[in-house]
Amino acid sequence: MPGYPVKNKMEMDMRLILLGAPGAGKGTVAKLLTAMSGAVQISTGDILRAAVAAGTELGKKAEAAMKAGDLVSDDLIMGIMGERLKEDDCKKGYLLDGFPRTIPQAEALKVLMANIGEELDFVVNIDVPKDVILDRLTTRRTCTGCGAIYNVKSNPPKEEGKCNDCGGSVVQRDDETEEAISNRLDVYNEKTAPLAGFYEKEGMLLTVSATSSDAVIEAIEERLGATA
Ligand code: AMP
Repeated sequence: MPGYPVKNKMEMDMRLILLGAPGAGKGTVAKLLTAMSGAVQISTGDILRAAVAAGTELGKKAEAAMKAGDLVSDDLIMGIMGERLKEDDCKKGYLLDGFPRTIPQAEALKVLMANIGEELDFVVNIDVPKDVILDRLTTRRTCTGCGAIYNVKSNPPKEEGKCNDCGGSVVQRDDETEEAISNRLDVYNEKTAPLAGFYEKEGMLLTVSATSSDAVIEAIEERLGATA
């Protein structure tokens, strides 16, 4: 992806879940990894935002929950992922960003992957302190064209409001108001954080306590090297 440095090539096909609170850096890490490997980033949030923008049936069903910072239904999400993981670009691996988000989604993913004969490598739990998360979410800006992530303080676009990569509009997401952010963090703690325990029991959890995406990438490379 333009704008993200290609550091080295990861030769193996990776199938990872990126777990972490909103603002933990899952999207940034996923974009770095796609530039280093053949894996694709699959963000259920991006898929849903595109559906809302296009006004599709899916978008209409998801819009209200998204705006409030609530989760959309497991059935809707599993419908999307059941189709998405069968697409050709998934053959060289994928980075699941923002999915699964509930225990039922994690269980359904296990069945789905067994049915298509694929296995997860591991789950990266990006653990970032709450004050950093809050600061990042309120200052984050996102390109409506390609999903590139900016920050008004640490990484603003060269031209205000315009994406460096695709020229799309760089805006604050609808669900990044103070109220929605606070709800998203509560929802994360209640519904998504228990996934760390779920994957720990499966022996698949790699927790990285780091605020820099480079440190997260290093930990992933180390684990991939160890399991290759
Ligand atoms: P994200 O971009 O990952 O923060 O997702 C934005 C919003 O999309 C979330 O706050 C949810 O409303 C919805 N969403 C994204 N992924 C999921 C998921 N796996 N399960 C339920 N809702 C989701």
